[in-house]
Amino acid sequence: MSFDSLGLSPSILNNLSENGYKKPTPIQERAIPAILKGEDVLGIAKTGSGKTASYVLPILQNIQRIVDFKNRHITGLIVVPTRELAVQVHEVIEQFNKELPVRIKTLAVFGGVSVNPQMIKLQGVQLLVATPGRLLDLIDSKAVHLSDTRFLVLDEADKMLNLGFKDEMDRILGLLPKKRQNMLFSATLNEDIDQIKSLLLDNPVIAKIAEQETDIELINQRGYFIEEKSKGPLLRYLIKENNMQQVLVFASSSFRADQILDKLRKNKIDAMVIHGKRSQGSRQEALNKFKNGTLRVLVSTDLLARGIDIEFLPYVINYELPRSPKDYIHRIGRTGRAESPGLALSLVTPEEAHHFRVIQKKMKKRVDMEDGNEIDLRGY
Ligand code: ADP
Ligand code: MG
Repeated sequence: MSFDSLGLSPSILNNLSENGYKKPTPIQERAIPAILKGEDVLGIAKTGSGKTASYVLPILQNIQRIVDFKNRHITGLIVVPTRELAVQVHEVIEQFNKELPVRIKTLAVFGGVSVNPQMIKLQGVQLLVATPGRLLDLIDSKAVHLSDTRFLVLDEADKMLNLGFKDEMDRILGLLPKKRQNMLFSATLNEDIDQIKSLLLDNPVIAKIAEQETDIELINQRGYFIEEKSKGPLLRYLIKENNMQQVLVFASSSFRADQILDKLRKNKIDAMVIHGKRSQGSRQEALNKFKNGTLRVLVSTDLLARGIDIEFLPYVINYELPRSPKDYIHRIGRTGRAESPGLALSLVTPEEAHHFRVIQKKMKKRVDMEDGNEIDLRGY
């Protein structure tokens, strides 16, 4: 199938090949026509399969179609869990928006940076990307009004409807008009959750792209049994022996991430860190460097587990396992994106072995294990 048959306008179509999009991914084939028709959509498709464009393109077109509609307030709202993801989704929007004959005014708002510049830029914005906390701050100071919002997207929807965001999301949903188009996207979304059913009033189109047996496995996975005290040396061994030039390392907490960073630097391995206790400036700087290939190792908490798109990222290492099996799927999904393969390695102590079996069971995939304790780690 080609993009031509999905109902997109010529100005959007012209732009696609320029941005390297030759043919639609399966989720784009399903979601784009449904969103253009005004239907509620629940989009479930694996990590790296192009879910962002599957809502961005039709929403840009839908908003363009109602330009005569004198809406002084936000017309479309996209809610995401992290600041970095807000920035990234906004970049995708602008990639396409900047070529439209009538440009739409868009903005990303998120915490950790001063609020005043965001308030000034909000004037006349039609399509807003936001993290929940900052959005509510801006609503409280009357800089954002949701009373005319027609389009709502929850990206990483299962995360947004999770306990961690519940109070904030309840408030946001309560402020939106009842009549609106809802679009929920995630790789790990269960359409049977009552919360989702009650949110999607309008007989939603469920676009669930099941993984095909014939799909080439883009993410190779391997695990290493290892004693706790040898995790550091094993990490450095893996990075050096495989000559890894770009690797994302996940840690279980900010504290642990800083410890890992420290050890890597002492061993003269170029590394930076991202976690919730770092300033937004240093977070974005580390991510930008990593995305453009000038940083070898990025150590992160689950802050980067969801949605972040790093072109051709070849390696992900779980220094420690995530608590939630869903987060495991999202973490390893930072590699193996847009048809380029990747390798995901997990370091597993005897205490973590049972949990890793639970993760594999939930993911319905077995991971080959090696005994890291048999590797000669002297000198690492
Ligand atoms: P997801 O949200 O499903 O994890 P993204 O929307 O972040 O995935 O897209 C992953 C990558 O695939 C991005 O770099 C994006 O530019 C690229 N991409 C998306 N759709 C297409 C397409 N139709 N053709 C080629 N590349 C695409
Ligand atoms: Mg995504």
